[in-house]
Amino acid sequence: MDIFDEMAQRGHEQVIFNYDRASGLKAIIAIHDTTLGPALGGCRMLPYVSEQAALTDVLRLSEGMTYKAAAAGLDFGGGKAVIIGDPATNKSEALFRALGRFIDTLHGRYRTGEDVGTAEDDFVQSLRETHYLVGLPRAYGGSGDTGDNTALGVMQAIHAALVHRFGSSSLKGRRVAVQGLGKVGYHVARHAIEEGAEVVGADINPHVVGRVASELGVEPTDPWAVLETPCDVFSPCALGSVINRETVESLACQIVAGSANNQLEDDSLADRLRQRNILYAPDFIANAGGLIQVADEIQGYNPERVKHQIESIYDVLSAIFKQAEENGQSTVAVALEHVRQRLQYVHQIRRVRS
Ligand code: NAD
Repeated sequence: MDIFDEMAQRGHEQVIFNYDRASGLKAIIAIHDTTLGPALGGCRMLPYVSEQAALTDVLRLSEGMTYKAAAAGLDFGGGKAVIIGDPATNKSEALFRALGRFIDTLHGRYRTGEDVGTAEDDFVQSLRETHYLVGLPRAYGGSGDTGDNTALGVMQAIHAALVHRFGSSSLKGRRVAVQGLGKVGYHVARHAIEEGAEVVGADINPHVVGRVASELGVEPTDPWAVLETPCDVFSPCALGSVINRETVESLACQIVAGSANNQLEDDSLADRLRQRNILYAPDFIANAGGLIQVADEIQGYNPERVKHQIESIYDVLSAIFKQAEENGQSTVAVALEHVRQRLQYVHQIRRVRS
């Protein structure tokens, strides 16, 4: 990969390679766009098959964070970090302290926290070296797990989509298929059942499916069959790229609204969803609840303020659905235009100096 070409194409400002000899830390931090404010975004730890794969992931994810923060009306930019390593065997105090040292050198230009493969407790180690962290456990001044607030945002997206498609936000008698019953998917399933939906759920971990089925009354299904389950709402809450050239043809739902990042393998699939008359709630808007929560931590966590901001996901998406229909565009195209406009006017406003 020609890194500068890639950065120019995606609009990145900075990519930092961090290596620590003592702990063996290999981490890449990507800062995409700080027009709106300092970059914010979690730190992933995965045994990437290559450095190239790690770089591609961090570039794509950090770009997504810019859009997510902008669409949620936050004054933060997009950033992300990845650690190359196996979370099951390579975690140590030294590793996360070393990460903390590197984060600290950016003096707040980038803040990070938990993501796939990392946990709140890992950053308790980093906290000994930097304060530029979010999503810490409550005992350490953080706001705790983001799963339920992310799920509440997904529920706002589902309600907005139901109103647009059926004229009512009620889930009574509707069928919802949830893929991935982890920290977010569990709560999406729970809220949907509480609102009267019939919920089908799948997870690659059979223990998780068994527990959620008996606890919530979710009807279990196969992890891959869930995509083809006839339903009103398909909620992808597992991993990215679940909607690709093949799977897009087998979806049997009216609405897609879930928490997974980068649900579409590429943005052109949004057009195919539109052609198939499937209403898609862009992931970077539907799943912003967790980001809203951790961004709020920086100004002193206020759950009421967070709830209010998460509720605005409903209005943002309702407007996007309406505009997409009127203009014959995909919901992703309209959402990205909305984001670009916000970045542009904030950039313009900030040209005013005292
Ligand atoms: P999690 O790891 O707690 O849960 C994911 C679940 O999906 C796991 O139980 C896993 O076994 C299951 N899974 C993995 N692959 C699967 C497959 N092919 N089919 C079915 N199940 C599968 O993660 P989470 O925090 O619930 O996050 C879920 C998704 O939402 C991720 O893509 C994450 O990046 C995104 N997200 C999470 C948050 C948050 O606040 N936690 C915020 C924004 C976005």
